[in-house]
Amino acid sequence: MTLNVGVIGAGMIGQAHIRRLAERVSGARVVAVADVDAERAKQAAQPVGARALASGEDVIADPGVDAVVVASWGPAHAQHVLGAIAAGKPVFCEKPLATTEEDCRQIVAAEVAAGRRLVQVGFMRRYDPGYRQMKAVLDSGDLGAPLLIHCVHRNPAAAESYHSEMATQDTAVHELDVVRWLLADEIVSAQVVTGRSTAHRSPHLIDPQVMLFETASGVRVDLEVFVNCQYGYDIQCELVAELGTIRLPDPAAVTVRHRARIATEVLQGWPERFAAAFDAEFAEWVAGATAGRLTGPSAWDGYAVAVASDATVRALHSGRIEQVHLSTRPAFYAR
Ligand code: NAP
Repeated sequence: MTLNVGVIGAGMIGQAHIRRLAERVSGARVVAVADVDAERAKQAAQPVGARALASGEDVIADPGVDAVVVASWGPAHAQHVLGAIAAGKPVFCEKPLATTEEDCRQIVAAEVAAGRRLVQVGFMRRYDPGYRQMKAVLDSGDLGAPLLIHCVHRNPAAAESYHSEMATQDTAVHELDVVRWLLADEIVSAQVVTGRSTAHRSPHLIDPQVMLFETASGVRVDLEVFVNCQYGYDIQCELVAELGTIRLPDPAAVTVRHRARIATEVLQGWPERFAAAFDAEFAEWVAGATAGRLTGPSAWDGYAVAVASDATVRALHSGRIEQVHLSTRPAFYAR
């Protein structure tokens, strides 16, 4: 059986997901695309033989669409995720699930009321082979209990429009999710420490930022977000446990010895670094949507990350440790 997918939002990542579904993920085809820019929707739809529709609502209502991908900008996510739930159609929503805690709460409530999982959130790091190996080692129990996690998230350069809150909302959200997933634990507090900023940034941006999180079981997490590091896209993660440590491997790359130097390439962006993760994420979503059993990051994960992200932004402004207050996790989302 082929899953007929409708895509809402045909910008950078929407187009990448359309190509992914057409070329690299089996069991699905893109049949409809909508974007606020009708011409953009047409250009994205045409190469894969899909129809360009006028709006996200049209995509959701289309009887030929079995499942929906939401890849529009964040503030538009909630309306289409809620629309897909109301239509009983599985929906893959790029992060963030929604831009307000209240919208995330509404989505969780709507899904629980629907009685089955219909939402998967685009936290693709859970599908990265390196993070998966880290989790397998931790879950084996051989290293004892986790104590600390050290994370680094560096980008070569950020656009002028990138502001200080986005270090959390756009960037650190990936660590907030992957840390919760690695530890099967929730973040309970956040703090942001800032110091000297790089000269290679826009004047309104504090860069780098050091974020400190604590989980319910007492694990301490530190995260450096540095989005104008100049040299490349560099994701690091080291977990310290009672009996040893687990380090995220760097992407496979040859080492070149040449002219008295030893060199290894540093990737320049997330599309290359997490290409395999995006493909695996969509393969699992297509299989789950087809079988009626979604297994990837849930609406609860989207909600929990949104609440932790809000606390981190508050901490940036207050300079204090801010608490993360989650509502009770519905049994529906049992781990
Ligand atoms: P983008 O290039 O700006 O694309 C978003 C597209 O959605 C634009 O064409 C936009 O049109 C359109 N749009 C906005 N509101 C819409 C609506 N109500 N209905 C239909 N289309 C609408 O942004 P992007 O970089 O692709 O990001 C899209 C989403 O993916 C964001 O939520 C972002 O956080 C997420 N993302 C995730 C990752 C990841 O690592 N998982 C990486 C990148 C992006 P206009 O431009 O005309 O408004």
